[in-house]
Amino acid sequence: MKSPLPAKAVLHEVVLRDGIQNEKNIVSTEEKLRLIDRLAASGVRRIEVSSFVNPKLVPQMADAEELWKRIDRKKGIVYSALILSERGLDRAMACGVPHVGIFVSASETHSRKNSNKSIDEALKEALTLIRKASSSGIKVRTGVMNAFGCAYEGKIPPRQVLKLVGSLFDEGPEEICLADTSGLGNPRQMKEMISRVRELTGKTSISLHLHNTRGQGMANLWAALEEGVTIFDTSLGGLGGCPFIAGARGNIATEDTVSMLHDAGVRTGIDLKKLIEVSQGFEKHMGLVFPAAVSHLTGAFCR
Ligand code: MG
Repeated sequence: MKSPLPAKAVLHEVVLRDGIQNEKNIVSTEEKLRLIDRLAASGVRRIEVSSFVNPKLVPQMADAEELWKRIDRKKGIVYSALILSERGLDRAMACGVPHVGIFVSASETHSRKNSNKSIDEALKEALTLIRKASSSGIKVRTGVMNAFGCAYEGKIPPRQVLKLVGSLFDEGPEEICLADTSGLGNPRQMKEMISRVRELTGKTSISLHLHNTRGQGMANLWAALEEGVTIFDTSLGGLGGCPFIAGARGNIATEDTVSMLHDAGVRTGIDLKKLIEVSQGFEKHMGLVFPAAVSHLTGAFCR
């Protein structure tokens, strides 16, 4: 018998990191703090606050220390950072960051472009970082980028993804995330990959980082939900361009995801009305038109 659809899902909000990291218009620390508070007030329970990277390469993340110092950390909310190097982890630890994300790419070309390392070198470093973070009491979610295909290489063999998942899983992370970094995944692939990953990882939570590059983000999310996945990365307004393809859409939008899940009877704990106001406010602040759908609708459609 088919297992029932999950009654609730958790959204991991990435707008402050993935969403704005490539935006030229630098968001002030004050505005970031306001956004974090407003997201929390609308019921978002997981907020990826920043990465710890070279500020020369990603100026948008230059205030990571200042931001972490000033966040009004509310009970029940998971605030996290993305880590790409040992130096980054040291900086995060100095800020008392309680949750970190550590990822490797399943594509050799993407790995070299993203981290200047081969997959094997990147994996070795990731395992060292996971050990160091875990032994300091930091909760780790780890995962694989380009798990469903690569903009540079095309198809990625599933065994390559599973090999990486296996190595990462051996370090005992809290969660394994599969990222469709290039937006090349399809719903059938989601189901097949998730069931194979679950054979390796058992009861450990699986999450998905989906991109809407080809307009298939929601279909992929739904396929994963049917497989029992309940944690999804989303970005307010759908902000965050695809890093590989000019003009392409990136992260799936938080408000669109909440809208679909609520309409279908899956709870998120998020107040959609409030969330839409947050998105509209931030859209105005950024002087952009966000890709999200529901925050641009009115009346009966705005739900
Ligand atoms: Mg992304």
